[in-house]
Amino acid sequence: MSREAHLYPLRHTDVDPKDDVLWNWAQNAQIGSRHQVQRPASEAELQELLRQSQGQIRVIGSKLSPGRMLHVSEQDLLLDLSAFNGQTASDEQSVTFGGATPLDQVYRTLTGMNRMLASSPGVIAIQTLAGAMATGTHGQGLQQSSIAGEALSIRMVLTGGSVREFRCGEPDFPAAQVSLGALGVVTAVTLRTGPFRIFTCHKNAVSADTLEQDLLRWNDEYPLSKAWWFVDDNRVHVWNANEANDDERLRYEQQDRQVVEHEGQADDSLNDTIDQTLAHMNRDTQIQGKGGKQFRTVTRFRDFTDVTGDIYQLFCRGHRGAADQRRNRRAAGENACHHQPD
Ligand SMILES: Cc1cc2nc3c(=O)[nH]c(=O)nc-3n(C[C@H](O)[C@H](O)[C@H](O)COP(=O)(O)OP(=O)(O)OC[C@H]3O[C@@H](n4cnc5c(N)ncnc54)[C@H](O)[C@@H]3O)c2cc1C
Repeated sequence: MSREAHLYPLRHTDVDPKDDVLWNWAQNAQIGSRHQVQRPASEAELQELLRQSQGQIRVIGSKLSPGRMLHVSEQDLLLDLSAFNGQTASDEQSVTFGGATPLDQVYRTLTGMNRMLASSPGVIAIQTLAGAMATGTHGQGLQQSSIAGEALSIRMVLTGGSVREFRCGEPDFPAAQVSLGALGVVTAVTLRTGPFRIFTCHKNAVSADTLEQDLLRWNDEYPLSKAWWFVDDNRVHVWNANEANDDERLRYEQQDRQVVEHEGQADDSLNDTIDQTLAHMNRDTQIQGKGGKQFRTVTRFRDFTDVTGDIYQLFCRGHRGAADQRRNRRAAGENACHHQPD
């Protein structure tokens, strides 16, 4: 196998859901077999499994990591922690979630409580909280922490079945924050929360000639900044966000906290670049058409406008973005027409 093929294996397109093979999310690497997976229903059950287990143990989150990182041997144990899901406690400064809570659910819960994290969300939010923390997952922006940076305490079941609560400030807490699953099984995480804030995101397409300086300047001038570099076209799509002003906040509240799209011409200057990128993605992923979830991140760069919303609506694909909403409204309009009685 060539080095390229080993490092970047192609996706398997003929996966049979009834098969015993357990694939990673990208379906380009086998993690192990389904019969190796155990799903403890409680911490006591998990402790018992760890006490009895002989071989290696690998926790699987949403399996988004590269396959060779998650792969186990035939005699090893795979742990599905999906029973450790959802909010379990809160106080004025923090909220505790089960380790396998998907980030999307973490963000929705916090938004419902009028709170947010100080970390910038990644592009997607289907990762589990513990899986994202274990790998140091983060969004862009020099002024924000990674998700693990907002942990105040991390509850783990250790080898041998004992339970330890790692607390922020303890000397070995940083190891527990980004552990790659090597220290133990994370069953719960308490996250530091701050007040919910609304942002207005200014979107631009610019040349990449001065990207090195621009990145620092954008991060200096805006609390939230995120950029995508399309290397083939030497173009950068940049999103810079400030806290919304009173008018913007009012419009957002009046719109039932839906993303506000600002008036003005939608900018189509990236559309050709997007078409080219989609062609590359079709080839690499072997997924045809533009409807797949994998393509949404890129297609939303078409016809972009400035928008107002919360950090998760604006920066994270897990929540429906403005472009998605626009497309859905258009589709709903089309459907409504199709269903008009004669
Ligand atoms: C399409 C895509 C987009 C992505 N976007 C971003 C991004 O914007 N920013 C970014 O930083 N990363 C990004 N990533 C990387 C991704 O966030 C990480 O791979 C993350 O680990 C995935 O979380 P998971 O729940 O799938 O964990 P998994 O991949 O299943 O597991 C990751 C590691 O965590 C361990 N683990 C999982 N759960 C537990 C637990 N409860 N206790 C102990 N150990 C555990 C596993 O054993 C493994 O070692 C992206 C990946 C993909 C495929």
